[in-house]
Amino acid sequence: MSVPDSGAGVRLVLRSTRVVTPEGTRPASVFVADGRIASVEVHDAELPGGARLVDVGGDVLLPGLVDTHVHVNDPGRTEWEGFLTATRAAAAGGVTTLLDMPLNSLPPTTNVANLGVKQDVARGKAHVDTGFWGGAIPGNVPDLRPLHEAGVFGFKCFLSPSGVEEFPELDASRLAAAAAEIAGFGGLLIVHAEDPAHLAPQRGGRAYADFLASRPRAAENDAIARLVAVARESDARVHVLHLSSSDALPLIAEARGEGVRLSVETCPHFLTLTAEDVPDGATEFKCCPPIRERANQDALWQGLADGVIDCVVSDHSPCTPELKDGDFGTAWGGISSLQLGLPAVWTEARRRGHTLEDVVRWMSAGPARLAGLHGRKGAVAPGYDADFAVLDPDAAFTVDPARLQHRNPVTAYAGSTLYGVVRSTWLRGEQIADHGRPLQQTGQLIERPTS
Ligand SMILES: [Zn+2]
Repeated sequence: MSVPDSGAGVRLVLRSTRVVTPEGTRPASVFVADGRIASVEVHDAELPGGARLVDVGGDVLLPGLVDTHVHVNDPGRTEWEGFLTATRAAAAGGVTTLLDMPLNSLPPTTNVANLGVKQDVARGKAHVDTGFWGGAIPGNVPDLRPLHEAGVFGFKCFLSPSGVEEFPELDASRLAAAAAEIAGFGGLLIVHAEDPAHLAPQRGGRAYADFLASRPRAAENDAIARLVAVARESDARVHVLHLSSSDALPLIAEARGEGVRLSVETCPHFLTLTAEDVPDGATEFKCCPPIRERANQDALWQGLADGVIDCVVSDHSPCTPELKDGDFGTAWGGISSLQLGLPAVWTEARRRGHTLEDVVRWMSAGPARLAGLHGRKGAVAPGYDADFAVLDPDAAFTVDPARLQHRNPVTAYAGSTLYGVVRSTWLRGEQIADHGRPLQQTGQLIERPTS
């Protein structure tokens, strides 16, 4: 057999009997040149001269995951998380690209100067490619276009209190003004969709049922109905963050059917954890919107199967252990699963008869498309960055918090047995993690593609 024509410049070949490509899963050899996928060849393709072969046998070669919902909290709340530790966790978990949320850091990413502060802090620390969302808060409409031009991927806003005072929510008129401005430059508005009229945040205590009742499905359903109207009126692209209420799925599907530019994500914890199983006082399970009942979870999986839900991203939102104080009223809301998202989702997906190709669609290709990174991230295909996760999908492990790489290894998954061990992670053709151990920091700071 001759060396394929595409062998020029190839220094690395990754070979597996199970490579997940957009056309399906097959035995293949992936040729890498200059950090990109040069070609996807037959399994036993002859090696180009000088190329190193990494044969992973029967382990599955996936495109690296793209996690568009990560709270790095750096600078300002670095005791909660930071760029070094968050991106270590990402690399260990098979995530090769992450986008940082604009709040919980000080300053928040609400103007170009603040973006520069965050980029300066992140530079040189990242184990994976890292980009930034901007924020839309009261009074910063004039900052949105400059932030867009500075490379943020879109703008996050809240409709209810965010949990930090420096990032206030938008009321109805401010939401409409932000959406109109963002539509004017073809940007993307991403929204924490809970309607404050339905929330009872003052309710506390150790009972999970009381916390769940304080953030009912109606809060999400009404907020999403409002977003559909805003998207329709402004013609802005609008994305619903961390959908928990499955009741909203028909509304979302209907709006999309009518051409409203609305997309939606959900998170590993909504797909794998259930309200019935959260012990009282177990505030490592607290997040907003909350983990709901088993029947709701079944409906979310149906939403994924039907293609109504576009992607699954972590909403990794850590804090110090003291802030998970056992009281659902006062504890910080956030679940940290950057390193565990792939095995958590895969464990439940396989039980429900889904394939790794489905998981790749939800956790790599879908988020890449949301961020405008398709064509570069989220697929094993020629021209894409050579970003990979090598997964043994049939191996199981028990989650040991001590092996997690993020700063405060509090986790709702402690002690769980999960399928899917990430053997190695690769970023632009360089190995960045080996059996859960992060290696080099070759991550780049990335910007929204302009074409
Ligand atoms: Zn979040």
